[in-house]
Amino acid sequence: MKEAIHPKYHVTMATCACGNTFETGSIRSNLKVEICSNCHPFFTGKQKFIDAGGRVDKFKKKYGM
Ligand SMILES: [Zn+2]
Repeated sequence: MKEAIHPKYHVTMATCACGNTFETGSIRSNLKVEICSNCHPFFTGKQKFIDAGGRVDKFKKKYGM
């Protein structure tokens, strides 16, 4: 059996497109996100600047909406 490769998973600082920064778990040391819990319509109940390029649809799929 081959040994499975597990990338190192650690807490890192993520920067959102809205300017918010938060800690998250990632295999990357620096993470850039377009949506965070601060600006996601799922959490805010509003839609902001993110409704472009089908990103919202992606999230709707992800959250089974
Ligand atoms: Zn954000």
